[in-house]
Order: sequence, then C-alpha cells, then structure tokens
Amino acid sequence: MTPDSLLQVRDLKVHFPVQHGLLSRVKAHVKAVDGISFSLAPGETLGLVGESGCGKTTLGRAVVRLIEPTSGSVLFNGEDITKLDGADLRSRRRGFQMIFQDPFGSLNPRMTVEQIIGEALDIHSLATGDGERSKRITGLLDSVGLSANHAQRYPHEFSGGQRQRIGIARALAVEPKLIVCDEPVSALDVSVQAQIINLLQDLQRERGIAYLFVAHDLAVVEHISHRVMVMYLGQVAELADAKAIVREPKHPYTQALISAVPVVDPEAKRQRIMLPGDVPSPIDPPSGCPFHTRCPIAEPRCHSEKPALREIAAGHFVACHLAR
Ligand code: SF4
Repeated sequence: MTPDSLLQVRDLKVHFPVQHGLLSRVKAHVKAVDGISFSLAPGETLGLVGESGCGKTTLGRAVVRLIEPTSGSVLFNGEDITKLDGADLRSRRRGFQMIFQDPFGSLNPRMTVEQIIGEALDIHSLATGDGERSKRITGLLDSVGLSANHAQRYPHEFSGGQRQRIGIARALAVEPKLIVCDEPVSALDVSVQAQIINLLQDLQRERGIAYLFVAHDLAVVEHISHRVMVMYLGQVAELADAKAIVREPKHPYTQALISAVPVVDPEAKRQRIMLPGDVPSPIDPPSGCPFHTRCPIAEPRCHSEKPALREIAAGHFVACHLAR
C-alpha cells in the first residue's frame, strides 16, 4: 500500500454461482470481477469504464461491501473491510458511501427529505438534539443546491436532477472520505448531467472526497476523472491518467472505446474502430487474453498466453502483449 492511499484493492474477485436443477447444484460461476487491483488517493477520482456486463458496477458495489467479494482484500485507511461484519462494518461505513444511477429507486418514497437525510445522521449519532439535527440537514441541502423549503417534501415531488442531489446530500451527511458513484448521471438529461458533475467536483474540492466513478460514457468519465481504469470481462485492460487514456490509448479495446466518443472539433476526425462479435460470456471467458476473440491485432500467442498488466510508462498500465 502506498503511504498516501485511501483505498487499496488487491486481487479482488466476485464470482457468482450459477445454479441448476432441482437440487440447485452449482454448475458454473459468473466471473463478474476476476482479480482486480488498484489504489485510490484521498481527493482523487478514478473513472471505471467498459461495456455493459464488464463488471464495473459489481466492482463498485464490492468495494463498499454491498456485494460480498469471493476473495481478495479492500483496504480502507489501511484496514481490510472484507474481514469486518456487524457493528464494526456499520461504523466503518461512515467513511465510504454510494450514490446510485436511479436516485428515485434508492430513496424511500414514504419518507420526507428531512427524514431521509436525518436517518443517515441518526445511524451514526451525528446530531444531538433537534436544533442541531435540522441545522445540519439545512446545511447539507444548501451544499447540494437545495433549500430548507425542500426538507418536508417527498421524493416524487422532485425532478431527476433534484433527486440525485438528495442522494448526494444523504451520502454527505456522514462526512465520507470515499463515494462510489454508480452511473450517477446516465439517467439524466445532458444539461442536468453537467450540473451534477459540477456539483460533485465542487464538493470534492471543498471536502477532499475521493470518488470511484462508474460510467459507460467516456466523455463524462474523462471530464471528471484524474485516472481511468478500463475493464473487460471482469479484468483490467488499461489503467492510466485520464488524459493519457484519451490521447494515447494503448490497449486495442481502449482504442475502440475512444474511437466511439464524438469529437467536438470537426477537424479532429477519428476513425471509428468497429469490434467484431459480442462480449464473450463471463461464465466461460476465453483462454489467453480475454480480448483475443475480438481483437483486430491478435497474434497466435494471444489465444493461450494471458498478458500481464504491465507498466509501460509512469503510471500507465496495460494488459496487452503488444503494447509499447
Ligand atoms: Fe489483442 Fe493480443 Fe493485446 Fe490481447 S494481448 S489485446 S489479443 S494483441
């Protein structure tokens, strides 16, 4: 673990059993996350990208123990949270929170905004007395661009963007050091997306929060992230500084993803790389390099030899035999 790491994930695996028959025998495993390692510094944003089904959402949830990892470790402030349970885990949850793609689904429709945010304060005994509690709730609403007038309303009375602001206020209530953002803007209109992204960036500057930002939209990820990790079939294909990933992608899969991002400058044309076939099943991933069935430059050895994740430049890691 580097001395300044807030989060260190080591060889994390999440394999879901596939059951079959009357006796529900386990006949195979879906390898949703298959040996992922990375670290995150305080106040840093790491973007997680990849096609649907690549394991990025499962990874985000496993990091905050909403899904149980099969093996590996998640060190938060140097402590392995995969070994904790009960009251110990509940108390550590103050440090790491999550915001979701569908804020409506994650907010109790029968609770007012005050009750939703107040519940988070109560669980961790963060406000003593009614005066202190409502002062903190008003302060949290203000910090996400809502007002005290909103406190007595219910989630259905808000727009999608406002509901996401409520979800952010609820996460902020416990003063976390890390927030896992699971596609937090993908269900919102483009103009509202920009407002929420700006809010998250402002909060990061003010409070030094680190984000693990899961998204399929590379343009959004590039904008908000310091570093980006590209996943394919539950494994890391490439991990680097956000600008390096976009300007000089080294893995053929990253190159294909980047080629699909629209460019604003009409002069700077990009050749779209179309990948053949579909993503293989994570129940039975290909041998050798997991990308070899779709890779435009695959060699014979790619079918049998799995490429290691190598550091080809300072902080730039690629899992490809041919990357230089
Ligand atoms: Fe393509 Fe081979 Fe590199 Fe995998 S190791 S990305 S198959 S060239």
